[in-house]
Amino acid sequence: MKEAMLSYDLVQRYNRPGPRYTSYPTVPVWSHTFGAADYQRALHTLAAHPDEPISLYVHLPFCKERCAYCGCNATVTRRSEVVDTYLDCVERELDLVTAIIGRQRRVVQLHWGGGTPNFLTPAQTRRLFGLLASRFDIAPDGEISVEADPRIGSRERFEVLHELGFNRISLGVQDFESTVQVAIGRLQSADQTTAAYAVCRELGFDSVNLDLVYGLPGQTASSFERTLKQILALAPDRIACFSYAHMPTFRPNQKRVDTSFMPTPHEKFEFFKVSIETLTGAGYEWIGMDHFARSEDELAVATRERRLHRNFMGYTTQPASHLLAFGMSAIGDLTGFYAQNDVKLGQYQRSLQAGQLPVVRGHQLSRDDQLRRKAINALMCNFELPYQLTVSEFGLSVDEAFGDVLERLRPFADEGFVDFGVDRISITHLGRFFIRNICMEFDAYLKTETNPARFSKTI
Ligand code: SF4
Repeated sequence: MKEAMLSYDLVQRYNRPGPRYTSYPTVPVWSHTFGAADYQRALHTLAAHPDEPISLYVHLPFCKERCAYCGCNATVTRRSEVVDTYLDCVERELDLVTAIIGRQRRVVQLHWGGGTPNFLTPAQTRRLFGLLASRFDIAPDGEISVEADPRIGSRERFEVLHELGFNRISLGVQDFESTVQVAIGRLQSADQTTAAYAVCRELGFDSVNLDLVYGLPGQTASSFERTLKQILALAPDRIACFSYAHMPTFRPNQKRVDTSFMPTPHEKFEFFKVSIETLTGAGYEWIGMDHFARSEDELAVATRERRLHRNFMGYTTQPASHLLAFGMSAIGDLTGFYAQNDVKLGQYQRSLQAGQLPVVRGHQLSRDDQLRRKAINALMCNFELPYQLTVSEFGLSVDEAFGDVLERLRPFADEGFVDFGVDRISITHLGRFFIRNICMEFDAYLKTETNPARFSKTI
């Protein structure tokens, strides 16, 4: 690791708002004139390719209370019947979609995200899984994953998830320190975390992930090291270490975050650096931007073999080219279209109760979008752009495709972030810290994006 080059000055110079590129083009570029008819068009195209495997995502937005730092599309309720009504709507959405694409499409990846998926009672969990299993052919050896809150529910909820075939589970931790937990409005004792983790281990989930967040108020270098040590003592298969993005203008609940002792950008960067050193020192491999996995984990293997993929659900080894998404705010990515459902629960439900697909915005990717998306994904996942990629998939030499971009990357090469090889551009270890900045050079829309506050800082 070229630590000497990681100066504060460098961090300051490159720390600016920028996308995380879970999609390209990014969501602010998408059009609100895109609606149900456009999505139906995408579904008909998918129907014409019945052998292509798909991924499924279901958004389960319910939480018992709203954490102040939360950046998810979540809704607070204590009433279980609210979930029943929501599942009625998801069922209608499934029926509208499968009426076009047909039933029993092969699914290689299924993910339930939230919100808090384990907010669902065992009966609701079985119902939702049944709705999916009766309409899709879910490969038992696929990635079947779920997010869970250690503070919610009983052992039985974890048992039901495992029994239904979920083989990967991700538990939210964020930080073990009580000062930090108070500042972010999420109290979670170490006992709650370790108990939920122990149940997941005992049940035999193939992979257990723990989520951390760095850059939270109250975190210090020593407190974050303590949290990392507690995480390592549990020995999860994977660890996600996300950067906290404080954007109260877009996430009003974040106004409740106690910002009086927010770390400086330099401290925040140090926390991330310490995470990388501590976790890789303990035998984990650094995956993509902010994930870590044991070297035998399939994500680590895929990274070494340069076949890691990324979609709205995160990093994956499953190269399904279509993602169907269900539920409020869920985003699909299929046949060259992005489509997002209504982010308001009431509107989402009203559309479905009226028999309409609840899509409210989206984007049809042009050939240029596809080309740039490929390049950005290759860089974000595998930290290289083989020149052959533009030739084999788009019939263009890398100069024809990205001549201007390569020129703009020269200063990054001078900084030591990028190596220009004979047959590829490679991101150096140092350059990985600035990967979002590098990818921004491939973004044709960024220059026209008038509201950079929509994006978090790149570092
Ligand atoms: S952080 Fe998680 S548990 Fe907290 S409100 Fe957001 S989605 Fe719910």
